[in-house]
Amino acid sequence: MPLPPDLTIDEIRATARRDADRILHDHWPSRTTSVDPRAIAHALGARVRTAPLGEHAWGMLVGQADGVDLVVDDHGSELRSRFACAHKIGHLVERGGAISPQEALTDMRSAHHRTRAEETYANEFAVALLLPESPFLAARANGDDDVAIARRFLVPPVAVRWRGMHLRREGKAARPAA
Ligand SMILES: [Zn+2]
Repeated sequence: MPLPPDLTIDEIRATARRDADRILHDHWPSRTTSVDPRAIAHALGARVRTAPLGEHAWGMLVGQADGVDLVVDDHGSELRSRFACAHKIGHLVERGGAISPQEALTDMRSAHHRTRAEETYANEFAVALLLPESPFLAARANGDDDVAIARRFLVPPVAVRWRGMHLRREGKAARPAA
């Protein structure tokens, strides 16, 4: 669903986390770690591919008459590519699962080309999708540090820090061991 215009940042993030949980529930029932965002995108009806997107863009959603193409720049590392795919799924979910034919939603490297709300949502969604709450908290409880968790869930370490910070704000996660 498109985001209502009057949400606070915290409400946008909470909405994104709820939506990511719902998508995991419906499309990643095994709940194993190293979630495969490409498989989830496929389950949502998107065709995923990598392609050179030039120096300015790193991801696109392109509406077609028969579905949606989710394109990730082919230059990034596997971790970046997974995160980019999850971020684009966030945009797709936020749009209610459909992109109008001939419409393209492009993520640029630099610019504030779209509203902050959409990007806040897509980033929060991506982190919550790739670091599902229960296994993430279990890893934390096990004493795993950010690097170990990043390796296990196949995400950039910054995503681990981000997930931990937001769960702590909700009172769910302890501070990582020093
Ligand atoms: Zn984006």
